[in-house]
Amino acid sequence: MKKQNVIRFSSNDFKTLKEHLRASGDNESFAYALCSKAQGPECDIYICNRLIIPDADDLRNQSCSSIEPSQECQAIAYGLAYELRLFVVDIHTHPFSKKARFSAIDDHHGTQNAKYITENFPDGSTMGMLVLGKGFDNFQARIWDSEKNCFEPANRLEVLGAATEIFTNQDKAITKANDPYARHRIIPGWKQGTLENLKVLICGLGGNGALILESLLALGIGKDGWIMACDPDKLEASNLPRIPYAFPKNIGEFKAEIAQTYATCKTPGLNVYCYPEGIESDEIQEEAKEANIIIGAVDNDGARKLLNRLAARYMIPYIDLGTEIIPDASGYEAIGQVHIFVPGKTGCLMCSGAIDPSEAALDSMSDEDKAQYESVGYVRGTAETPTPSVLHLNGVVSHLAISQLLRLVFDENFDGREYVHYDRQKCSLLAASAIRDDNCPVCGKDGYLGAGDEDTNRALEDLLDLQDSEAFDQVQPVKQ
Ligand SMILES: [Zn+2]
Ligand SMILES: [Zn+2]
Repeated sequence: MKKQNVIRFSSNDFKTLKEHLRASGDNESFAYALCSKAQGPECDIYICNRLIIPDADDLRNQSCSSIEPSQECQAIAYGLAYELRLFVVDIHTHPFSKKARFSAIDDHHGTQNAKYITENFPDGSTMGMLVLGKGFDNFQARIWDSEKNCFEPANRLEVLGAATEIFTNQDKAITKANDPYARHRIIPGWKQGTLENLKVLICGLGGNGALILESLLALGIGKDGWIMACDPDKLEASNLPRIPYAFPKNIGEFKAEIAQTYATCKTPGLNVYCYPEGIESDEIQEEAKEANIIIGAVDNDGARKLLNRLAARYMIPYIDLGTEIIPDASGYEAIGQVHIFVPGKTGCLMCSGAIDPSEAALDSMSDEDKAQYESVGYVRGTAETPTPSVLHLNGVVSHLAISQLLRLVFDENFDGREYVHYDRQKCSLLAASAIRDDNCPVCGKDGYLGAGDEDTNRALEDLLDLQDSEAFDQVQPVKQ
């Protein structure tokens, strides 16, 4: 099957980009996105790693029907891309088009630039073009295919974070009769179309994951995108009270297979794929790159660490949820939390303290070593010492997670409340923000935020010397 090209921005970068483009009013406007690349099973994804916003001095001319960056401006963008091994995507606007399409002049210059890059940059380098029309809600995009010597379309533009927006150039048939989501569509401000376009990965189909799956099906997610779920475990009798999709006859079967059968019966119109594997599986990690939201309903910090890394590398918002019933002197404490990491905006789970590095290390240990630790009381929640768990607590916390997902996608007062803590005994709900630590090894300046498949990131200090570097001298861009 032919792979689809996707261009992905964080909501923060897209907001900055739109502000810049809007400032030109009726004139065309221009910017560069330097992108990393991720190769998924069905898509090649170009992830905006940094924006280059030109100012008035960087333009050779600007009018309502044309725009041209100066040669110096283009040299800086190309030089940075060369140094950082990123891909140039040049972006401009057609401020009066309701359906933006490249002009013959765009074609001409784009082809010249693409040929220049494939000839002068390292093997496998390419470039892309994106034109945005009136209101920046319609677009045309393409990526140069250096083997075929022509541009191939990029028909999916993803803006991930708060707000999430998925633009596709596919016409959608709107179901009027028997529309299961008719009651959603009449909620003011509700973007059912965006939900239907999303690709969401759920990791874990246990007490929390089962309810998350049920809610995603109910939202119509996966109608034009997909829901992917993974869990390596088989159903045990003690899981039954917390998993609505499972019945006693299913004991001993893979949770993923039971969930798949359930989803197919319940919502035949949605694309749902459940795999009996964990996030440690290479195949699942490949699929995860294409997700627009990752939901972690896992019970260990080893899996959280992997999901947090994937989210940072591919700029995918990550919603982590967990519940705990902790016996104490007066009985027990029943709590739950939902934590959202929005790459490029909030701190990740590592720097905001949601992952305990020593727990994560324990989770990655061999069974033998783990048994040793367990015997001295260091490990909670193994087959030998199951953790307490009950449906209603999972219900409150997983629906809180869905509520947080909707606040993220619709950007409903999102900033500053990325973390929610629920305490059943105190009947309290607390919200807080996750502040980013610039020294975080995952999402900080030396981490790999937006790096895609390869480690292309460099500390910003390195870039300041760029003009002295040899690579910069080699870049002699053609006129645009
Ligand atoms: Zn144009
Ligand atoms: Zn971090």
